[in-house]
Amino acid sequence: MNNRFDGKVVLITGGGSGLGQAAALQVAKEGAKLVLVDLNQAALEETKQKVLELAPNAEVLLITANVADEKAVENYVNQTVETFGKIDSFFNNAGIEGKQNLTEDFGIEEFQKVVNVNLNGVFYGMKYVLKVMKEQGYGSVVNTASVGGIRGVGNQSGYAASKHGVVGLTRNSGIEYGQYGVSVKAIAPGAIMTPMVEGSLKQMDPDNWEEVGKQFVQPNPMKRFGKPEEVGYLAAFLLSDQANFINATVIPIDGGQSYKY
Ligand code: NAD
Repeated sequence: MNNRFDGKVVLITGGGSGLGQAAALQVAKEGAKLVLVDLNQAALEETKQKVLELAPNAEVLLITANVADEKAVENYVNQTVETFGKIDSFFNNAGIEGKQNLTEDFGIEEFQKVVNVNLNGVFYGMKYVLKVMKEQGYGSVVNTASVGGIRGVGNQSGYAASKHGVVGLTRNSGIEYGQYGVSVKAIAPGAIMTPMVEGSLKQMDPDNWEEVGKQFVQPNPMKRFGKPEEVGYLAAFLLSDQANFINATVIPIDGGQSYKY
């Protein structure tokens, strides 16, 4: 078994569900000390329980916080350093999809809500974590963008703006911080079957969402949804020292979707 995270401190936002939870399980199996941040406290407790089933000796700090609140972000970063003394890896992942609608009907409030969480939240996380990593002289940041951050998908003004913004922040900060031994990269998942995607399919057809899902992935070269653990493997690799020279770039994990549609 790999032990790439022995003695390492890994901070994950959106750790209560989906991709954040999958990454938490993977790095915990490989020895990480975990700090999990989420709005949803019950979800955090559930992730912790799953982590301890896999890695009974894992140290896990749970922090209930809203990533769109700058003070809460400063606090989760401070608490991490006070508890574990450093941050080796940061999975800056929490995000929401928002309601699907044409641009003219998208709504200003909805747009601002999605951008506040997905873009401002990622920026605040980088602002406070990169300062710590620069002082340490090492660290890796993995931001969660999306295929919707490198392609147009439609009906997703807030999501598209925020995820394209995450790609931009990643490229910009990777160029700034590489010289300090810190790498910054983004992942661009396609449709991965998490509670977020289930919610999105239910927006399309609440009674028939599983069938809608099957049709939804037909154009994908692999004709299926991705699995959260597949993203967990990629995130763990990118968060580990093995990926130090991958910097200021975005890695798709989408079955080939972004080269086709
Ligand atoms: P999810 O809904 O299963 O998990 C997201 C978690 O983030 C939840 O536990 C939620 O409580 C938390 N969260 C939401 N807003 C928050 C906030 N303001 N502060 C703190 N925590 C908050 O979704 P997921 O599919 O695991 O998504 C994770 C990330 O991956 C998101 O950024 C999403 O945009 C991105 N993504 C997902 C897919 C996919 O197909 N699942 C594809 C591309 C990108």
